[in-house]
Amino acid sequence: MLPELSHEEILRYSRHLLIPDVGLTGQQKLKAASVLLVGTGGLGSPIALYLAAAGVGRIGLVDYDVVDFSNLQRQIIHGESRLGDLKVESARDRMLDLNPEIQVDIFNELITSDNALEIAEPYDIIIDGTDNFPTRYLINDLCVLTGKPNVYGSIFRFDGQASVFYAKEGPCYRCLFPEPPPPGLVPSCAEGGVLGVLPGTIGSIQATEALKLILGIGETLIGRLLLYDALDLSFQTVKLTKNPNCKVCGENPEIRELIDYEDFCGVPAREHDQGSAGEGWDITPQDLAKKLQSGVKIRLIDVREPHEQEISNLEGSELIPLGQFAAHLSELDSTEEIVLYCKAGTRSTRALEILASAGFEKVKNLKGGINAWAAYIDPSLPIY
Ligand SMILES: [Zn+2]
Repeated sequence: MLPELSHEEILRYSRHLLIPDVGLTGQQKLKAASVLLVGTGGLGSPIALYLAAAGVGRIGLVDYDVVDFSNLQRQIIHGESRLGDLKVESARDRMLDLNPEIQVDIFNELITSDNALEIAEPYDIIIDGTDNFPTRYLINDLCVLTGKPNVYGSIFRFDGQASVFYAKEGPCYRCLFPEPPPPGLVPSCAEGGVLGVLPGTIGSIQATEALKLILGIGETLIGRLLLYDALDLSFQTVKLTKNPNCKVCGENPEIRELIDYEDFCGVPAREHDQGSAGEGWDITPQDLAKKLQSGVKIRLIDVREPHEQEISNLEGSELIPLGQFAAHLSELDSTEEIVLYCKAGTRSTRALEILASAGFEKVKNLKGGINAWAAYIDPSLPIY
């Protein structure tokens, strides 16, 4: 039994009701549907707005973060009036302003193996709007194990991808990528940047796929990976096949319950946790400032890109971008005190690992990167 629509809802959704493939029944299906959206950032913003506007009856939002000034370049569900507020609350309020007919559930937490099954239980479809590998594998396995479709999207600079991973009818994310990339090899948008409108394009495609799944119309991206290049404005689709040896959806699956995804991927799921190289390998901005003031000779190495050095840099530092780091090893002396830094501490941690494995012991990672230095030591530098 599908829910009835009020006269007000019929007017609100009239442009849907006019489409023969949607019609009254389709709109009732949307009202009866429930979707869990993980992430209310770049991808999550258009997804949440369009699903709310379309009248998806119950939408769950998962995010652990607060609205930050640097989010507003692309996360259009939030606004300046909500800076510092929980993202799930900011997003929910905007969605209910757009459409008070729907139900919005909020989960202000990081989705993990401990809470994922419980959070996802009431929902028909899961949409992945996140930007990290541990959560991506977690959502994939969660969807395979619970038999739900996973509407996937990812973005970086000018490139986007989308697919629907639904193990009952096609491949899963692990069929395509059995193993995560080595930690640090694939930069996140926080490190590498993203064109602000790109998540609008990919998120809108994810919202489209979710609506098609609910309505049961058209050809979804099940078994296909969509590749989008904003620079030459091209879309390509690549056919995907199910891997019979897939560890989670194959014929003899090894993974029968959720695992430790941070351990599996070798990186934390929470972006803010990524700027530390681990105990004994970090130096705080305060400690570095003291050392420099006391005249200790320290070689400061900036492992960012030249275009970032133009934004801010530490006086007296030299630039060796992470990608060229291994090739410059011979120029470094393991008897010197070295401090590595980048924007927030992630890339400098990778550089530190290269030095540590080459036997360097007197090397430290500037915890939190130059942004932390700007926040705590030198307010004349911008934070980016
Ligand atoms: Zn699979």
